[in-house]
Amino acid sequence: MRRTLTVLSLAIATVSAGLFSPSVLANDQVINLYSARHYPTDEALYSDFTKATGIKINRVDSDDAGIIARLKAEGSASPADVILLVDAARLWRGEVDGLFLPVKSKALETAIPAQLRAKSTDEGTAWFGLSTRARVVVYDKLKVKREDVDTYEELADPKNKGKLCIRSGSHPYNLSLFGAMTEHLGPAATEVWLKGMVDNMARAPKGGDTDQIKAVASGECGMAVTNTYYLARLMRATNPADKAVAERVGVVFPNQQSWGTHVNVAGGAVARYAKNPTNAVKFLEYLVSPEAQNHFANGNNEWPVVKGLKLDNPALKAMTGGSFKSELVPISAVGMNQIKVQQMLDRVGFK
Ligand code: FE
Repeated sequence: MRRTLTVLSLAIATVSAGLFSPSVLANDQVINLYSARHYPTDEALYSDFTKATGIKINRVDSDDAGIIARLKAEGSASPADVILLVDAARLWRGEVDGLFLPVKSKALETAIPAQLRAKSTDEGTAWFGLSTRARVVVYDKLKVKREDVDTYEELADPKNKGKLCIRSGSHPYNLSLFGAMTEHLGPAATEVWLKGMVDNMARAPKGGDTDQIKAVASGECGMAVTNTYYLARLMRATNPADKAVAERVGVVFPNQQSWGTHVNVAGGAVARYAKNPTNAVKFLEYLVSPEAQNHFANGNNEWPVVKGLKLDNPALKAMTGGSFKSELVPISAVGMNQIKVQQMLDRVGFK
């Protein structure tokens, strides 16, 4: 039977259980968080929540795939209450695999635009986007012309042979970008595009997004693909070496003249077998508060999902010149394309 959570009914259940069971009462002040957010600035987010509510957070860190595998292995014995993942397709996967407890929360539904959360059903909403990041192109301002890299398609153009650096194709950030491309171009043209990127690589994929940016700055590559917050972090660095990296590279938000730049979502969900679901919902609701959203924007250089907040991040402002056009591809389509994309990557030798 599927469990559905309404904050009110659970609050009542918890209170009445608490009357008879001291252990449940003690549990009230804890949540177990499985988090794929790998950003040191998030520490302040968690401690502010504990200060505001008295609810302690026990955190387990892993990547998206690790968390999903762990939840599946643990099943109903899982101690997880709340889950944070950093990729829309993985959030979708968790929903499809039944790992999340649908939530009914007016606060979350009001704060988060419909396209940035799971489809609501009678049971509730399975996951909620909490922040967004764009997947952009950085290039060597000395050697590469901006107009040669202002679309994703051009990353595969023979004019850019030997210049591309990119992390593993199988990383969720790339699987989601390629899954979105499959929606725009169709599978056959996407496979040709992936093959073109392999032909253009300056080196075999390795490292994370920051390593790609640094490789552009050092001259090893002419262009690279990165999430915006990694570049913003370098732009705002106090360390002179990092600052110099950011100054050396240009940034393009690709496909502004066509379908727009690929944007990914980091988000959260309540675990299917949460023992402290009321607190888990409280935590998600806290994450859409202006303070927490501001923290995503200023602490980790992401865009808030809550509209109307003043964005006060100089690096994000400098990067976009104010605003940019983002693509509109359903997250479920991106998620469903992932297996197809992985097969294409294997066929074209994109490691
Ligand atoms: Fe990341």
